[in-house]
Amino acid sequence: MNLSNFFNKKNLKKYSQLVSHINLIQTNNYQNLTVQELAQKLFSIKENSSMKEKEKILHAMAITRVASSQILKMAHYDVQLIGALALVSGQMAEMKTGEGKTLTCSAAVAANFVLGYKTHVATANEYLAERDEKTLKPLYSALGISSSYCVSKMDKNQKKEAYSCDVIYSTAQELGFDFLRDNLVYSLEEKMQPLDFGKIKAIIDEADFILIDEARTPLIISGEAPNKDINNYELIKNIAASLTKMEQAPETTDPFNTFTPPGDFWIDEKHKTVYLSDQGYETIEAICIEKELISNNPETQSTHRLSTLYQNHNVWIIHEILNALKAIYCYIRDKDYIVHNNEIVIIDQNTGRLSEGRSWSNGLHQAIEAKENVDINPENMTIGSISIQNYFRNYIQISGMSGTIMESTEEFQQIYNTTTIRIPTNKNMIRKDYQDKVYLSLKAKYNGIIEDIVERHKKGQPILVGTTSVAESETISSLLQKNNIKHHVLNAKNHYREAQIIAQAGQPYSVTVSTSMAGRGTDIILGGNKEALLSILYSQIESLNERRAFFLTLAEQLQLNSNTDDENTNDDELININSDHIDHEDVQQQIDFLYRPEYINSILQEGTHFIKHHIAILEHSVQKQIAVVETSHTKWREHVLNIGGLYVLGSSRNESRRIDDQLRGRSGRQGDPGESTFYLSIEDPWVNVFGKNPLFHHLAKTLPEDLPISSPMVTKGFAKAQKNIEAHHFNMRKDVFQYDSIADEGRRQFLQIRNLLLKDSETTQSILRSTLIEIMTPISNEDFYLYIDEKQNLQIDNQEDFFKKMIELSPLTIRGYFNDFTEANPLIKLSKNKTQYISLIEDKIAKLLADCTQETYMELNSLAIHQLDKKWREHLVFIDDARQNVSFSFLIQKNPLYEFKKLCFESFGSMIEEFRQQLVEDFYQLLTPKEEVSNEPIIQYIPWQNINENEMNEIENQTLS
Ligand code: ADP
Ligand code: MG
Repeated sequence: MNLSNFFNKKNLKKYSQLVSHINLIQTNNYQNLTVQELAQKLFSIKENSSMKEKEKILHAMAITRVASSQILKMAHYDVQLIGALALVSGQMAEMKTGEGKTLTCSAAVAANFVLGYKTHVATANEYLAERDEKTLKPLYSALGISSSYCVSKMDKNQKKEAYSCDVIYSTAQELGFDFLRDNLVYSLEEKMQPLDFGKIKAIIDEADFILIDEARTPLIISGEAPNKDINNYELIKNIAASLTKMEQAPETTDPFNTFTPPGDFWIDEKHKTVYLSDQGYETIEAICIEKELISNNPETQSTHRLSTLYQNHNVWIIHEILNALKAIYCYIRDKDYIVHNNEIVIIDQNTGRLSEGRSWSNGLHQAIEAKENVDINPENMTIGSISIQNYFRNYIQISGMSGTIMESTEEFQQIYNTTTIRIPTNKNMIRKDYQDKVYLSLKAKYNGIIEDIVERHKKGQPILVGTTSVAESETISSLLQKNNIKHHVLNAKNHYREAQIIAQAGQPYSVTVSTSMAGRGTDIILGGNKEALLSILYSQIESLNERRAFFLTLAEQLQLNSNTDDENTNDDELININSDHIDHEDVQQQIDFLYRPEYINSILQEGTHFIKHHIAILEHSVQKQIAVVETSHTKWREHVLNIGGLYVLGSSRNESRRIDDQLRGRSGRQGDPGESTFYLSIEDPWVNVFGKNPLFHHLAKTLPEDLPISSPMVTKGFAKAQKNIEAHHFNMRKDVFQYDSIADEGRRQFLQIRNLLLKDSETTQSILRSTLIEIMTPISNEDFYLYIDEKQNLQIDNQEDFFKKMIELSPLTIRGYFNDFTEANPLIKLSKNKTQYISLIEDKIAKLLADCTQETYMELNSLAIHQLDKKWREHLVFIDDARQNVSFSFLIQKNPLYEFKKLCFESFGSMIEEFRQQLVEDFYQLLTPKEEVSNEPIIQYIPWQNINENEMNEIENQTLS
């Protein structure tokens, strides 16, 4: 037994014993109490300061279970309480699909509540956040636990109210974005999230999806960047298109092999990156000189290739050309993005759904717009960003649950510092997972898939086809159409509608094609979900009644003739009243049509003839459907149980084993029967991403195309290809995490300062004081050098006078005196009386600050926040660039991460320095009477050697006055 198995067993045993305690506590204390009494008990446990934490948890869970059985008519299963205990302990719990993770969560939330913690529950999408919160709300409110959900359509005030609840359901993205938005406000009242995350725990549902699949890209909010010349993109595109691609990448591992294949650039498909060869730099330089983008000045030219192109004002050229090359060679239309309404819309690679409104950063988006000849949008600039990983580090504790956790044990450990646990299922799993079907060609694979579907569909077996891309879904959909098989295609576009469809995917004869787990979180019940279906059908009747009334009123008002309308219908006019299967979408689509303006318009034009008849057809259809569901549902369920349950067909392997298992897990829930098969082809696009497999190559030559192959070697080949992809993605996530963690140190300090500034002006005052003191006293404590100018006739013997004179100067002028520390300076070294000088300075500053009004400080404070933000954004832009640039460090044998850290650190340091200097400058501006304010900067850094006597006197006069 390996170590993690050991801990798994040990934890399970511990939790099982605790659940026995809960059962005992429940029978002894709470079993017969009313809901009101339970709520009182829960509250008094929360307030009880002498009760041990563990006891509190056990009692809270017992109370929740009793309340739930009364209010939701569901009592938590023992395994659900084990899951809840794991959540409270900050673990990642593997609980299979259909085990009831939503209900499990409620027990953990109640335990957090009595321990004095709020809970943020992150779900996979907004539909689920709303659904889960609404499901549990009756339970929470009966127990006195305030709850809410938080979705993107809500406004600031609604969100703020939501965040004040004891438990809030949202998505990781929305939580993270709200955090970023909160960092842009100018008063504490505007913040939506609580300031202190120290009293909040996070529970993440579908944790692997959120913390692993979604964590590959950081959350970014951006504003518009300063304008760039649009024409440049076109020009750069043409330069890029004229470059020659190298057949292969040059060998970089062997330093003695200096042979570079001919060509200007090579492509790293794996990382979607392009590299220029020496020849490439030369070509570009030549073209740029020819097009007069850069000047051909022999003086600035050297033999080194970087000389001209890498001069500061030319750096953008290489940057944009690399973008253009990436756009042309690494980003593929209809795979990475689509062109819709003259816009580039990104396809989310995890979910396959369109990410409307998102754009690639650093000019890549514009390069792709130029490639597709659509309008070029202004470039965006990052104004805030955080990785999912670092966002969740805000919380005092995180825990999670999902059907597939154990595969990622290592990652949870390494990145999130959490342990995993496998919770047993409530009933045994009996799903049959068949061997993969492997084909040589894609065509043969699709033929195989369709044959399989046709065969099973004839018997009425419900089928869920899981695909890995929108394109694949469409291929399969068109093949199904050709075979006259009615089906639904889901692309995770409309979570609410898709959930309604997938809830019925267990009905006989259902065929559902879904990309990347569209409709996740919705339980597929064999035979279909009767309650859900009836509730949809009844709401259709309501809609139809509403429409009928609407049209009649309309007819009346417009005095249209409605006498000829006919409400009698006959059976063959009715829609979908098949006794084997009911598809609520059939009528729904027609109902939706009744709401469309063009339909209403046509009624106005033609009168109401047919409308009553049409509505009557729809209504009678729905009524018949309701009757069918009532009488046949039990039969449907038996039918499906008898023919093997839900059949899951994977049309291709996913990028990880874990996602394959997720897909399989949609079938065989709660002890149901089920089956699953994956279809593969050696032509599947993902198979060759990491190089061609010689075995596959050989097979392709020797075997007939249309037969499935079964060989352990082939299976191994696929497993290896998938492992490579998994490892690659893991590295990408680690990369995001590592780089963001470096940036995160700065972010945390920035936020800390910012929040203090938001609170009151005290921090501003103390930064101002310390900066003034620092500016007016020498930097080094060991060597106290004071420099004074002989020529100013300051008497060294009369130190007191000197000090007096010094402190009369403006702080920044004094700073100028300390700028030069070279021995050669014709100045007199003073090493005595440091304390005296400093105390004089401090007195002066104290007096200066004490004389200021509160209004001045408030004004300074709000200036400070703006300045801090401005500097912070500059810092963000800098590190964005640095992140790109350091990726070349390995070419000169440097560690990119280390280089990045150094750059970030330096940039952050100088950002803070600049901020402090600016604060002093703003302070002096505020002190100067308004009419005298000039545009001249008050800060004057004067390198000592460069000042001549006259200038010096001038400065002195200026600042003394
Ligand atoms: P999961 O998220 O684990 O896939 P859900 O939370 O969606 O599962 O729950 C699946 C179904 O099981 C829901 O219909 C829910 O009402 C039901 N369910 C969960 N727990 C219980 C329970 N203790 N008793 C009865 N039904 C339950
Ligand atoms: Mg769920």
